[in-house]
Amino acid sequence: CGMVGYVGAQARSALDVVLVGLGRLERPGHDSSGVAVLAEDGGIAAARAAGGLAALHGVLRERPLPTGGSAIGHLRRATHGAPSEGNAHPQLDNAGRVAVVHDGEIANHAALRAELAARGHALASETDTEVVAHLLAEQFSSCEDLGEAMRQVCRSLVGEFALLAVHADEPFTVVGARRGRPLVVGLGDGELFVASEGVAFDGLARDVVGLADDQVVVLRRDVDGVGCEITDAGGSVVTA
Ligand code: GLU
Repeated sequence: CGMVGYVGAQARSALDVVLVGLGRLERPGHDSSGVAVLAEDGGIAAARAAGGLAALHGVLRERPLPTGGSAIGHLRRATHGAPSEGNAHPQLDNAGRVAVVHDGEIANHAALRAELAARGHALASETDTEVVAHLLAEQFSSCEDLGEAMRQVCRSLVGEFALLAVHADEPFTVVGARRGRPLVVGLGDGELFVASEGVAFDGLARDVVGLADDQVVVLRRDVDGVGCEITDAGGSVVTA
């Protein structure tokens, strides 16, 4: 119900930026929380807690995460599955290569879950969100492009959502999508933000761009710095 993503150029800890952003979004009623950090050597490190940010900070004190160059985080208000660590976001695929956070509800999650199970996926949570992690893993393995994988997956989703996702094979990328739930991008100097509300990165971003329904944003860092591309559902570039 509140989420933040960040891609930066090392000057800051991605984990800290996301935790501070979540702190600005936290409200009474958020029942669980979590973060995923992309380690620079590839691999996703995640921490989740039943409870709000105080509980998550407790988990992180016990088991610190790498600070990372990219990260996503979430505050959950459960709609599908009890508030618990296992149902907290990020939700991961079976291989732990994809992590997803989600605001909203996937109305056709039961059908998607059955299809995934028939294709050999073992779903571990009771959330509607987890299907998105598994679907992204499948799509990514055929197209090897997280933005394209997100566009494909969104076509199969019914419901309202804002989503952020990372993949271990694209260690400097955060992808976002929305339909019916808000998602805004913040452009900074050598760093990019994305969140359910701009207040999460107030004072850090130079410019703020809101995503329209069914648009997908790819935030990426490469040798030239950071770049942000917004496409429509068909993959045509809206702004670059
Ligand atoms: N439907 C998702 C869940 O229950 C997301 C809820 C939210 O918006 O926080 O996990």
